[in-house]
Amino acid sequence: MNSLHLYLTHLDHNFGVIRNQLKTTTQIIGVVKANAYGSLAIPFTKRLVELGVDKLAVAYTEEGIFLREKGIKTPIMVFYPQQHTIPDLIAANLEPCMYSKALLENIELLLNKKEIKNYPVHIKYNTGLNRVGFPVDEVDFVLQKTKQPCFRLESVYSHLAATEEDRPSKICDLQIERFNQIKLQHMAASEKPPQFHLLNSSGVFNYPECQMDAVRCGIAFHGYANNVAWDALLKPVAELESIISQIHQVEKGEAVGYDNGWIAPQKVQIATLPLGHADGIGRHFGHHKVQVTINGQQAPIVGNICMDMLMVDVSGIRCQAGDRVRFFDQTQTAAAFAEKGNTISYELLTSLGPRIKRQLHD
Ligand SMILES: *Cc1c(COP(=O)(O)O)cnc(C)c1O
Repeated sequence: MNSLHLYLTHLDHNFGVIRNQLKTTTQIIGVVKANAYGSLAIPFTKRLVELGVDKLAVAYTEEGIFLREKGIKTPIMVFYPQQHTIPDLIAANLEPCMYSKALLENIELLLNKKEIKNYPVHIKYNTGLNRVGFPVDEVDFVLQKTKQPCFRLESVYSHLAATEEDRPSKICDLQIERFNQIKLQHMAASEKPPQFHLLNSSGVFNYPECQMDAVRCGIAFHGYANNVAWDALLKPVAELESIISQIHQVEKGEAVGYDNGWIAPQKVQIATLPLGHADGIGRHFGHHKVQVTINGQQAPIVGNICMDMLMVDVSGIRCQAGDRVRFFDQTQTAAAFAEKGNTISYELLTSLGPRIKRQLHD
């Protein structure tokens, strides 16, 4: 009925594009949080591992445990581990990103209690995004603590607030400056310095000189880098397709959908599709914001999107119940579709619900 077609050869292509932007020595951390951005966590992750990512990363411990349960052996960073999940995180051999004194001390305590030495950990600094991370004035604390034998400090990183913004970006420049300072302090204090990294997908394109030892890419593997020029180098992996459930004729002046969302300005043909806001096509896409493609022609979404369905105006389009409907593909990409609904590819892709069947194409 509703299918999210996933073209893994496009992932291969996108990985190659990212690899080519980087020095051969720069490592790639494959970010596969939120079910690999709403796709299919396991096949997507396995393909990334085959392609040669050096590490994987997820947002939360539970996501890392899921990957381990499915047999993924590659090192996995957990960007935002919550305190109560640390015992499970260690049991699954996941690598915590430590972002606060309390979290670090909690992990230290647990490792010491279990007499674990050299456990791989990462440090996240807050250089200006003001979300999570050690403040820049806690470098001394971090340096002293991460020397403990229970830890092996693998990497030190920060996250930029607006890598897709045209350069010069005031916030990114400030963050880069702060991070370089932190890097110097770590380098001066370590015999064997950790890795340093700053960039996400759009950062790879916009700040290649800041690639350091590794980059953390997620959305680029799906075909997007938040800028039309960079997107043109990549190929969207996911295409969303639905079908027509029913078509009716609606007379001039009649309403379509909940709350008289749209009044037909003339006699029209309305097609109902089995996809709604419960599936991730939110109400912000209603009221003629976006068009879907039916038999090569464009049909606007009319009125309010329902939970399980939405209606499109197919007047003048030759179509019938059962015909396929394209929401986004290589022509109208998920990024372009999202923009018309005033959102971004990340939100659209990760909102697609479980009623949409993921279909792999190799
Ligand atoms: C999600 C995330 C990334 C990946 O960002 P993309 O824009 O998808 O490449 C990188 N770093 C951190 C810390 C993240 O949370």
